[in-house]
Amino acid sequence: MPPAQSALVVGAGAVGVSCALQLARRGVAVTLIDRGPVGGGTSHGNAGAILRAASPIADPGIVWKVPSMLMDPTGPLAIRWRYLPRLAPWLLRFIVESRPERHRANADAIWLLGDQAPDAWRRQVRGAPAETLLSPVGWLKVYSSEASYRAAEGGRALYRARGAALEEFDAHELRQLEPNLAPIFARGVLHADGLFALNPRRLVELCAEAAVAQGAVIRQAEVVDVEADDARAAVTLADGDRLEADRLVLAAGAWSRGLAEKLGAKVPLETERGYHLMFETPERSLNRPVVWEDKSFVLCPMEHGLRLTSQVELAGLEAPPDFRRVETLIPMARRMLPSLAGAPTDRWLGFRPSLPDARPVVGPSPRAGAALLAFGHQHYGLSLAARTGEVVADMALGVDPGFDPTPLSAARWA
Ligand SMILES: Cc1cc2nc3c(=O)[nH]c(=O)nc-3n(C[C@H](O)[C@H](O)[C@H](O)COP(=O)(O)OP(=O)(O)OC[C@H]3O[C@@H](n4cnc5c(N)ncnc54)[C@H](O)[C@@H]3O)c2cc1C
Repeated sequence: MPPAQSALVVGAGAVGVSCALQLARRGVAVTLIDRGPVGGGTSHGNAGAILRAASPIADPGIVWKVPSMLMDPTGPLAIRWRYLPRLAPWLLRFIVESRPERHRANADAIWLLGDQAPDAWRRQVRGAPAETLLSPVGWLKVYSSEASYRAAEGGRALYRARGAALEEFDAHELRQLEPNLAPIFARGVLHADGLFALNPRRLVELCAEAAVAQGAVIRQAEVVDVEADDARAAVTLADGDRLEADRLVLAAGAWSRGLAEKLGAKVPLETERGYHLMFETPERSLNRPVVWEDKSFVLCPMEHGLRLTSQVELAGLEAPPDFRRVETLIPMARRMLPSLAGAPTDRWLGFRPSLPDARPVVGPSPRAGAALLAFGHQHYGLSLAARTGEVVADMALGVDPGFDPTPLSAARWA
């Protein structure tokens, strides 16, 4: 196909905005379409970690951990049982993907984007106002005991084998690194090559402004239909308008499944819902996001308050939020950070777009070369967004992205 001169990008989350910005910078006439405000989807409320990501959720031990997670009322996993019949095929495939050889292959596939994730963000924001929102403080995991630290060795091996920078801390060193954490942790592991987005929503908004400065147009409208073949693509908006372009980039996050199917890509996209609570910044706060691994929640010192994020809830896109489980974590958060005071100032539910193999879908639709798919980034959508944008722009312009993207193709589900 000839290089794209125009593109429609559906979805203005971290992924869609990064695609729009990368395309606009390279001279493509971009229309970025979202039914809501820029960055108002799942990219609004995440934990801000930008990691060299590699770890699929379906790991070889997960099947044995699930029952105890489900029984623990403060545990990290909840299933709405009424949703189980719809969820069952995804869950069965998820179990298949937890086999050691599948887990390794899935980690390799995520790493195709994850390896360069922080560097791609650095490139995306260099010299722009958004640069000040990325802090090179890494991502710290803390463990209550030597036993829980040792139990996570498999995860660390996955990263070490790929050359990620892991720094290890004993209890004493941890107190130097994060003096305001309660002295209740035996070990800490820092993903030292990670960045921290101090305000993920604002980061996305600033990148959208940068795209507009490069000529992109933002249209607030619901996309109700999409069409594409190997030459052209089009979207129909809720108000009846029809827009055409050389390429369509589908980056509608957890809401991509139906539109992808219309573009010839049938993929088992589900959502892993997740929650956050916001607090006023405590007087003695943290220097970086810290995840209490034994309890599976994160405290993130955002520029506009302290954010607690947690949980995977399997309940689909329609069920109303249930904040009870995330609120049961408040006493534990105060144990972790004793200066955390006051009630939450805000609470939020987001929708991670997840396939059973945890690989994003990035690449042309198997049936329509003018449709580029860019969704399914699960727990790492912020991390992988900028690199996805680079790769999508390469694909739209017929440039070799520098690696074989087949493992990320929707064709794997055909
Ligand atoms: C609690 C929590 C913590 C997380 N922490 C991290 C983290 O620390 N690091 C990390 O890398 N990732 C994290 N994630 C995951 C990350 O937030 C997501 O993977 C990422 O935001 C997905 O981005 P996206 O652009 O694909 O989707 P979204 O941000 O959801 O954007 C999709 C957009 O598409 C629009 N849209 C959908 N359908 C249509 C339509 N028909 N017409 C028009 N517009 C449409 C929506 O309005 C939305 O704005 C976390 C997620 C959660 C829930």
